Amino acid sequence: MLTCHVRPDGDAIGSTLGWKHLLGSLGKSVTVVVPDSAPRSLSFLPGFDSLAIYTRHEEYCAKLFNEADLIICCDFNQPSRLDKMEHLLEDSSCAKVMIDHHVEPSPYADVQFSFPDMSSTCELSFRIMAELGLYSEMNLDCATCLLTGIITDTKNFTVNCKNPDLYEILQHLLEKGCDKNRIVRLALLEKSYGALRLEAYALSEKMEIFPEYHASVICLSKEECERYHYEKGDTEGLVNKPTEIKGITYSFFLREDSDCVKVSARSVMEFPVNLMCKELYGGGGHVMAAGAEYEGTLEECRKMLVDSFPKYSHYLKGRTERLDYFSIE
Ligand code: MN
Repeated sequence: MLTCHVRPDGDAIGSTLGWKHLLGSLGKSVTVVVPDSAPRSLSFLPGFDSLAIYTRHEEYCAKLFNEADLIICCDFNQPSRLDKMEHLLEDSSCAKVMIDHHVEPSPYADVQFSFPDMSSTCELSFRIMAELGLYSEMNLDCATCLLTGIITDTKNFTVNCKNPDLYEILQHLLEKGCDKNRIVRLALLEKSYGALRLEAYALSEKMEIFPEYHASVICLSKEECERYHYEKGDTEGLVNKPTEIKGITYSFFLREDSDCVKVSARSVMEFPVNLMCKELYGGGGHVMAAGAEYEGTLEECRKMLVDSFPKYSHYLKGRTERLDYFSIE
């Protein structure tokens, strides 16, 4: 059985399904169990329809956990990332393998492949498969899934892609017949009319700039999201947009959800947004890409953040450029 983190992304789904195709071709009986549904943008992935979704089929998923001989945990560093499935992993007595690239893993698995320098769990998975001598067993379905995770986690080779080896892996995946253009289009670019308009609204009406701190904050209420027929995944990538402004060092996006505020943060030049997410909201992540969930109102969440800017301003030293900003009243 393979599993991945809650609100799965291209790397989480790509790595679990990638392993499913490889192990399936070796004659293993494999299931992928995910804590909640995956974004529709990934529905082109081979095997997508076979995902067992815990929020929809709790009992069935619990049974899969109980009956598993081996559980492979992809793309998460601690059991809490399984959200409501956490107890299933903890109660299960079979051996567990972790394959992940997030920092500071907790020692929850029997075998842990933890490589925070890797672009993605999919890159790491490719390397493990190749080291196991299974490159020739890797079929097009497996390769497509792995390349999707690499493409989504690196934003089509624009971030976390300094290692030249990554391009050798890309070459191998293309040799397997992957359609890279199609993956980029479907997994990364394509969005709905509502999603595009919500993004435009957020950027033109809701983006706040704090010139002194080289920071940007976007808040979206539940009502605003609903106005644009928000669907899961629609605001994916929005948090990155303000960092495109020359001189913006970090960006926060706060979205009011039904039971909490979803916080995501991005930065440039190694500004530690993971530290802010951890200290302010108990979240975490990578230095330049982090997140959290805040249980309280959107206004409180925003205030905590903005009030904290002075506290973190010493990290701006050596991490700023002249801000290209004028206010429009
Ligand atoms: Mn990942």
